[in-house]
Amino acid sequence: MKTTLASYKNGNYNVMLLSDGTKIRYGKDGEEFDAAFPESVDLNITDWCDIGCSFCYRGCTEKGQHFRFNEKYLDSLDFKPGMEIALGGGSPIKHPDLDKFCEYFAKRGCIPNITVHWSSMSMVKGGDLEHLQHLQADGLLHGIGVSVPFYDATVMRAMKFYLKNTVVHVIAGLIDTNAVYQWYKTGIPVLVLGYKDMGRGKINNPEDGIEIWHEIYLLKDMVSGIADGSGLPDFESTYGPVPDDVKPIISFDNLAMKQLELQELVPEEKFYEMYMGDDGIGGSLTSASMYMDLVSGTYARNSVDAKPHKIESGQTISEIFASLKKSC
Ligand code: SF4
Repeated sequence: MKTTLASYKNGNYNVMLLSDGTKIRYGKDGEEFDAAFPESVDLNITDWCDIGCSFCYRGCTEKGQHFRFNEKYLDSLDFKPGMEIALGGGSPIKHPDLDKFCEYFAKRGCIPNITVHWSSMSMVKGGDLEHLQHLQADGLLHGIGVSVPFYDATVMRAMKFYLKNTVVHVIAGLIDTNAVYQWYKTGIPVLVLGYKDMGRGKINNPEDGIEIWHEIYLLKDMVSGIADGSGLPDFESTYGPVPDDVKPIISFDNLAMKQLELQELVPEEKFYEMYMGDDGIGGSLTSASMYMDLVSGTYARNSVDAKPHKIESGQTISEIFASLKKSC
């Protein structure tokens, strides 16, 4: 059953966030929504990661630093109730202060979410999966994004039966379309993220990374089958149809929308019904989201913005967001 996670006023409009991730915005007829603060913040709390992915656009390693929990500093940023805080990195699940961050944001009435690598779904006793279960059971963590480069039934079971509010994160070009379909038909929401050819991701620039750009092309073909209603007969004949009791969900970040040229695939009316706004990639900022890197003390429109700004002492998140909007 859907419940209301948050309901608040932001600038000249209202936001209602439901437990299944649905977001409803409403305001005065004919008035463009003008946010006073970000509805969601992609918050980097660590550059540390021991996975060593060859394409890591943030270039994370075991030498990376953590931003240690600092309540006074976080208070000064004045995060607002209802804000979705995506704790990221690096590897935020390995951050020694993760529980403190979750507790802090939950207490403020924010909605803490996290992204983890698929290896965190291992059933090993005392491992990440148990840690995530405890955080959710204590009401300190809402959504869990799990980055997967392939389909795996054990990972799927952990996400479906051991955790709540999970989302499969796949990167366009790095995952085979067959795997995307296998995830799609489980009913666990799938979020397609654009491929970032920066940092270590430069190895797959459009000239050198022929394979991944070819894979992006295949994914585009698959998504068009969903978008235009022609279906996915090739995948269905191999992996079976989506079960009748499953309502598959697939969504895209703004970079993936661009790389898959989604606007061309979806009828205009439907596209704007679902589009949550520009996060700055297109030169404007209407999505009410932003990126903040606590490790480097910087902020930007999104995590691929090449020109981050320094967080000034005493600056609140609303002031930071206002300055971002002005600079677009
Ligand atoms: S892509 Fe993610 S999991 Fe891989 S090295 Fe970078 S931070 Fe770690």
